[in-house]
Amino acid sequence: MINVYCEKCRDYVGFIEKNVMFYKALGGLRLIYRGKEGSCSECGNVVHVSHLRDFNLAQLHERIKDLKYITE
Ligand SMILES: [Zn+2]
Repeated sequence: MINVYCEKCRDYVGFIEKNVMFYKALGGLRLIYRGKEGSCSECGNVVHVSHLRDFNLAQLHERIKDLKYITE
């Protein structure tokens, strides 16, 4: 289990992965994409998890690719 830093607990904590929907404004469009978010297993605060951020970026890029395919 990876420990991440929670700003609320001011400590390194375990985290829980949740599936969430993200919204991103892009050139007048509002993109919705599926991503993941980590929350502190102690207090529930959202924590920054680097591999989840990478995952979310990849999801967003996939979404943009789909969009280009549709509009081209
Ligand atoms: Zn916490």
